Amino acid sequence: MERLWPPVLSEIERQLDGDRFRVLFQGTELVAYDGQTAEVAVPDRVQGDAISRGYLGTIRDAFVRVAGLAPEVRITIREKTEAIPPLVLNPSYTFENFVVGSSNRLAHAAAIAVADSPGLAYNPLFLHGSVGLGKTHLLQAICHAVIRRPRQLQILYLSCESFTNDFVSALERGQVENFRYKYRHVDVLLIDDIQFLAKTEKTQEEFFHTFNTLYNAQKQIILSSDSAPKDIPTLEERLVSRFKWGLVSSIDPPSLEMRVAILRNKARIRGLEFPPDVVQFIAETVTSNIRELEGAVLKLLAYAKLTERPVDLALAREVLQDYLRAPLRRVTIDGIVQRVTQAFGVKLADIQGKRRTKSVSLPRQVCMYLARSLTDHSLEEIGGYFGGRDHTTVIAALDRVKLLRERDPAFSGLVDKLTKELFA
Ligand code: ADP
Ligand code: MG
Repeated sequence: MERLWPPVLSEIERQLDGDRFRVLFQGTELVAYDGQTAEVAVPDRVQGDAISRGYLGTIRDAFVRVAGLAPEVRITIREKTEAIPPLVLNPSYTFENFVVGSSNRLAHAAAIAVADSPGLAYNPLFLHGSVGLGKTHLLQAICHAVIRRPRQLQILYLSCESFTNDFVSALERGQVENFRYKYRHVDVLLIDDIQFLAKTEKTQEEFFHTFNTLYNAQKQIILSSDSAPKDIPTLEERLVSRFKWGLVSSIDPPSLEMRVAILRNKARIRGLEFPPDVVQFIAETVTSNIRELEGAVLKLLAYAKLTERPVDLALAREVLQDYLRAPLRRVTIDGIVQRVTQAFGVKLADIQGKRRTKSVSLPRQVCMYLARSLTDHSLEEIGGYFGGRDHTTVIAALDRVKLLRERDPAFSGLVDKLTKELFA
């Protein structure tokens, strides 16, 4: 049977488009064949119903073509299997592929504990952190680990949005009982991005009861959010307090060291090794989150392939220019003025005023110079900001600062120092 089913499946795949095939036939297997009847087990009822409604003939035809058999096809729902549509999980979001560092150590340890003993370790487990830091990865790693356990557990993983949609459509179709059965009979319930629950009252009410039922039955609940429970604006107090019954753990942005480790890991997964200076460069340049870090790696690899150039520092600098420029956009004229007036001991009003004494005109010129080199403002805008001067005045100021920098190393050092501070 193990040998018969794969070629039959391939034949079915030839008949259907790829997505439909995956949705319908992922996780199916031939569990019995007695010469007359072929019994095909499918992971869940939804999938089983869909096949029974329209694809029994397709299966039978495939048997005919592949093996010259024309069995009657019977579908059975595999007992106590995961209720996760397999498509939902990203196969690479596993514990093995998760790099652990100080910023996520607790969250990771808690996730492992929960996967090891669902319902017993921490309940609920609540993971929060800003975007791209690995919440979804950890939730799915728990799913993979639970699915791999010898004792099959009923597990449901979904986004908060799906939960809400599911509930709303159950309400509309008068099938709330089905909805309740589905959500209240699982061993492990994982809801990603629970902050979106905030919106509709009725859904919160329903979730509250789902939570209570599962919790009382010692079933595992795992939630993720972009902020801590108390910081989700419209979340009811009774839910906030329940979320804190178990373990609330934050995932913080990765340190430089960890970014380096993640980059090495991502390269390794792709069977590559980046030169150390490239790794260092990316880790220092792309600092916001891990998703961006991955994006940078992909972009770099794509360019290297496209231009047939080796992945070296020069290429990395070229490709990641956007990231290099990004911090420049964050410097504002206000920030520049604040920093410069402080350094030169002058007042804001002086800088924006008409006086031309050297004590105020030099800091004003430095401001214009920094504004020109560190922001996207035009000469006109810069002139306008500094007391309605026109663009020729700004150009003159830029020239003067450039000249002074060439002549006076101390002054040049000061300008560099201000620049650095503005980025810090
Ligand atoms: P979130 O759900 O918090 O927005 P994700 O879990 O989607 O973030 O993570 C974004 C990307 O970064 C994913 O591709 C994920 O695999 C990767 N990632 C996040 N944290 C880690 C980590 N610690 N080790 C390896 N990859 C990670
Ligand atoms: Mg996510």
